[in-house]
Amino acid sequence: MIYFDNAATTLPDNEVIEVMSGILKLDYGNPSSAHALGRKARVIIEESRNSIADLIRVNPQELFFMSSATEAITTAILGTIRDLGIRKVIVGKTEHHAVLHCLEMVAELFPISIQFLDIDDSGNLNYGQLETYLKEGGQALVIVMYANNEIGKINDFEKVSSLSKMYDAVFLCDMVQGFGKYCLNPSLIHRGFAVCSAHKLHGPKGIGFLYKTSGLPVKSLLTGGGQERNLRSGTENIAGIAGMAKAFEVAHRDMIQNIKFISDLKSYFVHQIRLNFQEAIFNGASDNEGLYNLVHITFPKPFKSEMLVENLDINGIAVSGGSACASGVVHASHVLKAMGKGDDYNGVRFSFGKYNNIAEIDQSIEILKRVL
Ligand code: PLP
Repeated sequence: MIYFDNAATTLPDNEVIEVMSGILKLDYGNPSSAHALGRKARVIIEESRNSIADLIRVNPQELFFMSSATEAITTAILGTIRDLGIRKVIVGKTEHHAVLHCLEMVAELFPISIQFLDIDDSGNLNYGQLETYLKEGGQALVIVMYANNEIGKINDFEKVSSLSKMYDAVFLCDMVQGFGKYCLNPSLIHRGFAVCSAHKLHGPKGIGFLYKTSGLPVKSLLTGGGQERNLRSGTENIAGIAGMAKAFEVAHRDMIQNIKFISDLKSYFVHQIRLNFQEAIFNGASDNEGLYNLVHITFPKPFKSEMLVENLDINGIAVSGGSACASGVVHASHVLKAMGKGDDYNGVRFSFGKYNNIAEIDQSIEILKRVL
């Protein structure tokens, strides 16, 4: 199987698996227990927190472990609306469904106004519109992702951070597609949140974190034992937390070589696509912009691109197209729609990782020639 779906999830590193299996076998104490096994588990959690905080240059007290980026996003959004009393939300149209569907849910519970930020046909956010909405007044929650998971477009995080600061808005940045690939700096967020999911950076599934700047009195989604300083009740996923810390360590240790290796893979793939399929369209200018591991391509007629994801799957290549929900059903992409494309416009996302190689790209080009 050729795995070109690294934006969906990644193969856990062996170093991560080793750390996790050691903990699952030996360090199974409940960190809330007072005895030695419990204290050992507590130490593992706090060492993991310190290690991640060090790498991303934030205060460890600002990191809260949660089961997923989805949970962290929901905690941030609901917390801001319910506990800080903010009623105005400014959000990018191409945010992940974890954001957009959460806002739909919150809008049924609280009288919030939601202003959507347009993007152009290349996926660039309208920063002028963001400033106009902020200027209109009323304290706002601004939600703009670091990088888009479908087309790989990278937003101007520093600009959104400084605009949010200027207008005293709370800023939530979904950094899921950026952590582990870049040296991110969430502390540029003056007041607000960032979220991470470990399985996107060769860590385990079912663990992530919420970064929350100090002094934002938001409450938890889950009540109970009061873990994670009352922001996330429930016995901690110790192996997951330590696995995520190891994934961060490995990602930061190898970052420079990974960037070069994966960028070269992408460039080679883009070159081969241009050579063999001249009419191919790189959505979001993903051929030479955006995330260095991702391209999103439309193969227009007369290419036989219907069922391309399925046909590649039959030929042993894993890629994604549209946004698949948990049932595996693929819907027209809200990202492509926001770029002004019609319902029948679709494309395929190829996302590379450090375990891919040039031979796999050559092989996939041959298969694409046959299938298309
Ligand atoms: N945000 C982005 C940009 C994503 O790509 C994903 C994962 O698909 C999520 C949020 C949700 O992450 P999780 O699977 O940890 O809930």
